[in-house]
Amino acid sequence: MKIKTRFAPSPTGHLHIGSVRTALYSWLFARHNKGAFVLRIEDTDVERSTQESINMIMDSMAWLNINWDEGPYYQTKRFDRYNEIINNMITYGTAYKCFCSKERLEYLRKVQIKAGKKPRYDGYCKQNKISGTIPHVIRFCNPQEGDVTFKDQIRGNITFNNKELDDLIIRRTDGSPTYNFCVAIDDWDMGITHVIRGEDHINNTPRQINILKSIGAPIPTYAHISMIFGSDGKKLSKRHGALGMLQYRNEGYLPEAILNYLIRLGWSHNNKEIFSLSEMIDLFTLNKVNRSPSLFNIDKLKWINHRYINQLPAKYIAKHLYQHIKNQNINIQSGPPLTKVIELFSKSCKTLKEIAYSCRYFYEDSFTIDNKYLNFTHYQLLEDIKNKLMLTANWNIENINQVLLSTADEFKVNKKIVYMSLRIAITGHDGSPTLTHVIEAIGLNKTIFRIEKAMNFIKNKKNNI
Ligand code: GLU
Repeated sequence: MKIKTRFAPSPTGHLHIGSVRTALYSWLFARHNKGAFVLRIEDTDVERSTQESINMIMDSMAWLNINWDEGPYYQTKRFDRYNEIINNMITYGTAYKCFCSKERLEYLRKVQIKAGKKPRYDGYCKQNKISGTIPHVIRFCNPQEGDVTFKDQIRGNITFNNKELDDLIIRRTDGSPTYNFCVAIDDWDMGITHVIRGEDHINNTPRQINILKSIGAPIPTYAHISMIFGSDGKKLSKRHGALGMLQYRNEGYLPEAILNYLIRLGWSHNNKEIFSLSEMIDLFTLNKVNRSPSLFNIDKLKWINHRYINQLPAKYIAKHLYQHIKNQNINIQSGPPLTKVIELFSKSCKTLKEIAYSCRYFYEDSFTIDNKYLNFTHYQLLEDIKNKLMLTANWNIENINQVLLSTADEFKVNKKIVYMSLRIAITGHDGSPTLTHVIEAIGLNKTIFRIEKAMNFIKNKKNNI
């Protein structure tokens, strides 16, 4: 049988990192088994579902390269199908109309709670076989006896007593079908063989299994993935660095790093940390997914991102970096190619946003030098370097370095002083990638221009004293 999995997000906000991990595991499981992967948008909660959220889901999946073979299906477009089944269920007696008023249900609840019982519908309308057309809901006739057991692929056998389960409302008074019902029908209609989803859905599983059984549909295999918590063991939030997926893109993470981080967050293969996409597909199995909760660690995500910035071809990184450069309003026409900038910053920057923040001086001369830097003792050093650089026939790192060393030698000053004054002149900062490489990338003309600018800065400073 061909394996088929699905990702079924509710479009009610950002796509969270936990949902993306669920999507990834479902997708990898399908790809590993040469099966199919379905995208289904669970938008039955009309009030909370938004088009903006649907767009964010699609954009995130496209950015991460998690591609689907079928869909996106929308539950709101399948109401006719749900109603067809509900009407059949009423005919076959596996569902019934319930006319109980809000007041009765509220009172029943209070009495049950007072008596120390778990509140649940008492089956009044089922027993009394009431019929009519006044406003009503449709309830599923949940079996009253026996258990529901399923073999969770991550957590082993899980059993629920049918007595614990309510006669679930499957269609509301306004005619709209409810969540658990739609999920069960969709999984059946779409031929889903493996439902891989968050642990928060375990309690829904016996209800969905009972619905499927009542209509003679096959029961898929279930796998519930543990939750992700913050590093302090508390519910994951912004405080822990948890963001919506597109915000990670905006913060300068690479999709490869996100996927690699997420596969390791709750799954392992020996002690291996870095996985290419094809390794992920080859190696991913559900039996290696961890049962205990995972702890989100933003520093590890950064570490992996840094690895990928250094590991992937600079040309590829440049494509992703370009958007960040645009966000910073940097015009890269008159400067080195982005691949050069990446080579220079990949050691020190852990995100693409950091690179974009740091590299402005490669393209713009307009930075100002802080007053705390450079004084008259540096003036002659800079002048000497300038004169020598202008006579450098071959503009390369080796020759630039020779100039700096000979200036230090002639002026009998520590070469650190020479480098630091020049660094300030060329970049405006007291820290940069290897200076000779920076100068080589910036080019002769801009270098000379900036040295002159720094010399003027020193002159003006002196005049002001
Ligand atoms: N729509 C549900 C959610 O976003 C997922 C339901 C499922 O996977 O069965 O949590």
